[in-house]
Amino acid sequence: MAHPSDEAFTMGGTLAIYAERGVRVHVLFGTRGEVGEMDPILLEGFGYIGERREYEGQCSAGILGVTGVHFLGYRDSGMPGSPDNQHLDALVAQPVDEVAARVVYYIRLLKPQVVATHDPIGGYKHPDHIALHRATQRAFALAGDPQYISDLPPFAPAKLYYQTLPKDLLRWALRLAPLLRMDPHHFGRNGDIDLVQLVEEGDFPIHARIDCRSVSEIRDEASACHVSQGGQSIGRRGLLAFLRRFFGTKETFMRAIPEAEKGLQERDLFEGV
Ligand SMILES: [Zn+2]
Repeated sequence: MAHPSDEAFTMGGTLAIYAERGVRVHVLFGTRGEVGEMDPILLEGFGYIGERREYEGQCSAGILGVTGVHFLGYRDSGMPGSPDNQHLDALVAQPVDEVAARVVYYIRLLKPQVVATHDPIGGYKHPDHIALHRATQRAFALAGDPQYISDLPPFAPAKLYYQTLPKDLLRWALRLAPLLRMDPHHFGRNGDIDLVQLVEEGDFPIHARIDCRSVSEIRDEASACHVSQGGQSIGRRGLLAFLRRFFGTKETFMRAIPEAEKGLQERDLFEGV
């Protein structure tokens, strides 16, 4: 995941379910989410925004039952076109091979059977999400390649998934937004989500639906750790939260590897592993 909060907001239920079943779940963050606005009160006791968000990520991981939290150490790239994109340490300013090399290190170290990351449009076109998607896709292929030499021996995970929003949900949001006097081109808490564009571009097949009903309270509690990101209201307020409840509390994934046959419908990311 690109930033602390992505783990809870996008796949918190799935992480909690597998942790509960005894799977060792690790979360690897590309950045500490150090760019953006934050109520100064929340920074009391913290050196800078990234420290606060790391703390929130650790809080969430603890509630979800995650075994380990790791950071690639890049800097949040901020919104598209912002000066933060150009920062030397910004995730989007790095060559994909360099980011992939760091992801390979963690895959070889932690030996996950299943890897999940952002989808090709980064959920809602966040540049860091897209950068991490590309790097993870490349790292997945390289980690098991004996020709790719690094400090650790090769390890090939069995499956790669991309977390993706169901298109139906986006279509409904698009239909309802104008009725609620919301601008579908500037949707979401920060007004940075273009629903129209997402419906056009985000048509990814859904191959796995993880039923998160049994852990919905855990997921909400983990989301609430992300106070600086409005996490207390995620899943409780807002149009997408409403639609998610309406569509059922399933988290949805597209399977990239092994390539999915048409109509594949998994209920478990570890199916066949
Ligand atoms: Zn993010």
